[in-house]
This record gives sequence, structure tokens and C-alpha cells, in this order.
Amino acid sequence: MTMLRRPRASASASNGGGKSLKSGKESKITTTVLYPQLWPHSFLSLTNARRDIKYDELTLEEFVAGYGQILQSPDIVEIERPARLKHLVSLMYFAQQYEWQAVLSFHGAVLLEIERGLLKWGDSLFHLESRTLYGHPKAPPSSTSGGSSTSSTTVLYCRDFQRQQCSFNQAHYGYLRGERKWLRHICSDCWVQSRKQEQHRAGSSECTFATARSETKN
Ligand SMILES: [Zn+2]
Ligand SMILES: [Zn+2]
Repeated sequence: MTMLRRPRASASASNGGGKSLKSGKESKITTTVLYPQLWPHSFLSLTNARRDIKYDELTLEEFVAGYGQILQSPDIVEIERPARLKHLVSLMYFAQQYEWQAVLSFHGAVLLEIERGLLKWGDSLFHLESRTLYGHPKAPPSSTSGGSSTSSTTVLYCRDFQRQQCSFNQAHYGYLRGERKWLRHICSDCWVQSRKQEQHRAGSSECTFATARSETKN
């Protein structure tokens, strides 16, 4: 990662005269952004405390609210509006089949490619679907009820969450042994010992394995 330096006077026309524009995703300046897009998180009417909301942390409700604001915005090109609406509908269908985080990164990938001029609204997005969505099917809604043959999707827990050192407040992507994985904020003890996805941290007072651990030394 390089520090951003303000070009000194006007003498630095080193990068072919290309104008540096901000991606709407983060306030990060890249030279590759040709067509900055409106990102849903920056369009949320912030009625709550989540002022510094990050795109990757949007819930489905926040996402649709922000996306809807963009659809209503006079700033978008009128002929793009139907394509954007159609895209939202397909995102919501994807959200029924795939992990929400995967749908978010799919849409993020779409916006980034549009910003780079590689895609236009209305183009086929199939290559991005396969890259971001297909590996992340939504876990079946029925919770584990004794059936041990349901290991179609791997469940991984966030280690930082157990130590209260995670900066995310819900499940997120992270690196595990060099691979980008979907990490859940579930109790590692409950998952390892009983294959249950519990919301508490390992070692917290709600965890049944916490007391067992302090009594019997393993
Ligand atoms: Zn985490
Ligand atoms: Zn537990």
C-alpha cells in the first residue's frame, strides 16, 4: 500500500494525464476509476448511529434502502434506471439462494468493473456471478437437528471474534491460511463440540462449554 501524495504543483503529469477519480466504495484514490458509481452505503439516510458504515458491512435492509435512494436520485442517467432496477431484482433473487455477503461482493464487483470502464449497465454479469456467488450457497434454513450428513457448506468461525478483537460486527470475509473465506461470528467451542452455530463468543458466560472447560482441564 502506498501513501497518497499530493502532486507537486502542476509539474507531475506522469500518469499519461489520466485524472484520478475516487471510487465510490472507499475514499481511496485509484487511477483506474473512469466512471465513478454511486454506492448504496453512501446514500443511506443515516437515521441511526451507524454513521461510518462500510459497504461490506451493509445488511440487506440497508443495502436496499441505499440502492432505492440511488434509483430515486436525479444524478443517475435516465436510460440506466431500468437496468439498475432490473439488477436490483436479480440481486434479491440471488439473496434467496446465496449468502448475503456473497451477493454484496457480487454487486461490489459489478460497480468496480463499471467504474473501470470494463462493464456498462445492462451488460451480462455472468463472469462476476461465477466468481463471487456460486461458491457461497445459502445454508439450508433448517437448523442442525441430528442429521450429520449436512456438510455441503463449510462453516468457519472468526478467531478474532472469540477474543473480542474483531472489527466487524457480523460475519465477514477474511483470510484463513491464505484463502479468502466467509467467517462467521459463532462460538468456536459450540461449533467444534456440538456443531451448533451459537451467537456468543467462546468462553463467554452463555457458553455451556465455558464452565466445562474451566472445571476440567483439557
Ligand atoms: Zn470476525
Ligand atoms: Zn459456546
